[in-house]
Amino acid sequence: MFLGHFAMGVGTKPFAPKLPVWVLLLAPQFMDLLFMPLVALGVEGYEPGPYGHDVLNALYTHSLVGAVVISLGAYAIGRYAWKTVRSGLILGGLCFSHWIIDLFVHHQDMPLLPGNLGGFPKLGLGLWDYEYVIFGLEVVMAVVGVGLYARWSMQARPSARWYIGPLIVTVLFGLMIMGDVPRLPPL
Ligand SMILES: [Zn+2]
Repeated sequence: MFLGHFAMGVGTKPFAPKLPVWVLLLAPQFMDLLFMPLVALGVEGYEPGPYGHDVLNALYTHSLVGAVVISLGAYAIGRYAWKTVRSGLILGGLCFSHWIIDLFVHHQDMPLLPGNLGGFPKLGLGLWDYEYVIFGLEVVMAVVGVGLYARWSMQARPSARWYIGPLIVTVLFGLMIMGDVPRLPPL
């Protein structure tokens, strides 16, 4: 759902015209941005697999409590860097949307408490088992996200260059889609 998270961010642009697109793209990925250094440090783990079947050990960043804490951090960044509660809420909300989306697709690997404290059953509805459905959904999300951004850009920046931002994001998303295709299971 790498692409789906990014799509959520860029599709928010019409509702958050003051926030730069790169920030909107990154906000839904804050959890994974923290996941990567933790993998490098050996605290969390990642083994690449076919599409939807990466093996993830993300007991801190992807715990419910961890996600809330990271989202509060995203709220604080928006609140203080862009000086409005609205910016904070948008960045915090986008950040938490990562956990909600992951809850649907992940296999049961998302704990309630950091480090799976208390040993409660881990969460994840495992929809990644329907690889083509989820991949299709990601592509739809990408198209809708870029579409919303492009429409906003056309209206808000009626210069000859309104399309540059949407074009860059389209290329980026296209590369991600092309990267995922070989990882899909054979039909
Ligand atoms: Zn994630």
